[in-house]
Amino acid sequence: MWYFSSPQIIFGEQALSHLERLSGARAAIVTDANLVRLGIVARIQQALAPSGMQTLVLDGVEPEPSLETVRAGAAELLRFAPQWIIALGGGSVMDAAKAMWILYERPDIAPEAINPIEPLGLRAKARLVAIPTTTGTGSEATWAIVLTDPVERRKLGLGSREALPDIAILDPELVAQLPARLTADTGLDALTHAVEGFTSTFHNDFSDGLCLQAAHLVFEYLPVCVRGGADLEARGHLQNAATIAGLGFGNSMAALAHGLGHALGAAFHTPHGRAVSLFLPYTIEYSLRGEPGSTRYAPLAHFLGLPCASEAEAGAALAAAIRRLQVEVGQPLTLAELGIRASELEAELDLLVSNALNDTQTVMSTRIPEDADLRRLFRAALSGDTIDF
Ligand SMILES: [Zn+2]
Repeated sequence: MWYFSSPQIIFGEQALSHLERLSGARAAIVTDANLVRLGIVARIQQALAPSGMQTLVLDGVEPEPSLETVRAGAAELLRFAPQWIIALGGGSVMDAAKAMWILYERPDIAPEAINPIEPLGLRAKARLVAIPTTTGTGSEATWAIVLTDPVERRKLGLGSREALPDIAILDPELVAQLPARLTADTGLDALTHAVEGFTSTFHNDFSDGLCLQAAHLVFEYLPVCVRGGADLEARGHLQNAATIAGLGFGNSMAALAHGLGHALGAAFHTPHGRAVSLFLPYTIEYSLRGEPGSTRYAPLAHFLGLPCASEAEAGAALAAAIRRLQVEVGQPLTLAELGIRASELEAELDLLVSNALNDTQTVMSTRIPEDADLRRLFRAALSGDTIDF
C-alpha cells in the first residue's frame, strides 16, 4: 500500500490573490528577515487584507533552521493562536514552518521526534499555506522536514504525511527577481529531485510522469532564468517544475545524491541545491556499476532526447547533460571548485561518511553504498575523477 499526496496548487499570474479567500481571525506568516526587507512580506499582507485577518510576522528563520528556531516559533504561535500558518520563503522557511505548526498543534511533541509513523492529529487548530519564493526545493508539495542540529553537526530528516501543506501558491511575480546564483542552486535541486524521484527504488506509476516533465522543464528553462532575469513565462515554468518535482519525489523518494548532499551541507554549510546537484552525476556513474538491470536511466534519457540505446549509454549521456547544464549556469562540478581542499575533506571524511550512511535517502538508491564506497565517492567528487568500482 502506498499513498499519493498533493496540496491544492494555485499557480500562474495573480495566484497570490487567492489569499483573500481564506477565512479566519488570525494568520501567522513564517518567513525570514530578508523577505521583510525586500517588501515581499508586505505584499502578502496586502493580498491578505480583504480577508480581514489579523497577521503576525515571524521573521526569524535562518538558512538550515535549527531545533531552537522551531521551538521559539512554536511558542509564538501558541501565544497568537492563528487559524492559518503561511510559510513564505525557500525550503528552510517552509520546513521550519511545518515543524512549528506541528509543535503548535502538539506542544507535547519534541521536534526531533517527528516521524511518519505516529499520528499527529494536525489541523485541529490551523492549516498551512506554502508560498515558495525560490524555484527548487519543492517543500511546498512534500511532507518532508529537514532541520539542522548544530551541536551534532548533522541534518535531521524528519517528516509526517500530515505535514503536507494544505495549499501551495505559485505566483511567478514572487520569483521574477530571484538572483542568478539562487536560481541556479534551487533549480538544480529541482532537477535532482526529478532524477532521483524517477530512479529511486520507491518510484511508482504516479510519480514517474511528474518526474519526467519536471526534469524536462528544468533543462529547458533554467538557463533562460539564470541568464534572462525577469522573463515571467520562463520563471513560471521553472516554478512549476520545482513543485512538480516536489510532488514527484515527495511521492516516491530521493536517493544517494541527497544522502551525500545532506552530509556535505551539515559539515561545510554548502547550500542544499548546490550540494545535492554536484553529487548527482557521480551517483549516476556509481549506480550504473551496480546490479545490472537495477537502474532506469534509459526511459529518462529517452524523454529528454538523449542517447539511450542501453542503460550504460543513457546514464553516461544523462550525467554529461547534467554537467553541461551545471557549467552553463555557473555551478561547480567538483568539491575543489566549491573551495574545499583535500585536507579539509579528509579531516571531515568520517563524519561525512557516517552521516551519509545514516541518511534516510541513501537507502532508497538502486545501489546502496557501503562505508568504503562512500569514501571513494566523496574523494572522486573532490577533483572530478571518474568513478570506477
Ligand atoms: Zn533537495
